[in-house]
Amino acid sequence: MTSADRKKANHLGSLGLKNAVEPKKKKKKKKKKKKKKRCSEVETLWHVLGYCPKEELQRNNRHYKVRSSIATTLRKAKWEVYEEVHCLAENGSTRRADIIAIDRRNQRSLILDPTVRFEKDDQQANNVNDEKKSFYNPCIPHFSER
Ligand SMILES: [Zn+2]
Repeated sequence: MTSADRKKANHLGSLGLKNAVEPKKKKKKKKKKKKKKRCSEVETLWHVLGYCPKEELQRNNRHYKVRSSIATTLRKAKWEVYEEVHCLAENGSTRRADIIAIDRRNQRSLILDPTVRFEKDDQQANNVNDEKKSFYNPCIPHFSER
């Protein structure tokens, strides 16, 4: 018996608990803190709605809701709809189209990539359309082969 054990036994003995065992102290569980994304930018509406890393989850949820809503509407209108479709561009790089909609009766199809942008000028819609076209047009041969 070590001196520490004797001290413990004397302490318990003085309490009239000769054969008692001291309760083990519960180890405190360390709570894992999720790292919050930090941002040092000025909180303008443009920044928060479009780029702030702290708002990424909400921005993605908004995007999924918009995409789902468009897909549902197209299905009701009898389009054949596929969401989150991987495709290959002419240069071999990959893309993921949000929606591919096919109207087989009229032999036409659409690549849709809905985006919510903070309006900065009256050319915004045209500029975004051009941006999206340059992103997805290289995938048209890939979809045409299918
Ligand atoms: Zn921010």
